[in-house]
Amino acid sequence: MVDQACKNCRLIITQGTVCPVCGSDQLTSKWSGYIVILDAEKSEIAKKLGIKVNGTYAININA
Ligand SMILES: [Zn+2]
Repeated sequence: MVDQACKNCRLIITQGTVCPVCGSDQLTSKWSGYIVILDAEKSEIAKKLGIKVNGTYAININA
């Protein structure tokens, strides 16, 4: 099974059907590329993407 990504915040979700970061249930398996944010507060990339919580995020959502 392909992992789902949250359409709202792009978090990649490996378990369940609701995003643990933003609470959205709008998930999609149509995403490509991913980035791991280990320190959201200090990461420049996280700031650019608007990510505030550590996790694995899809770079592109295609749906
Ligand atoms: Zn989300």
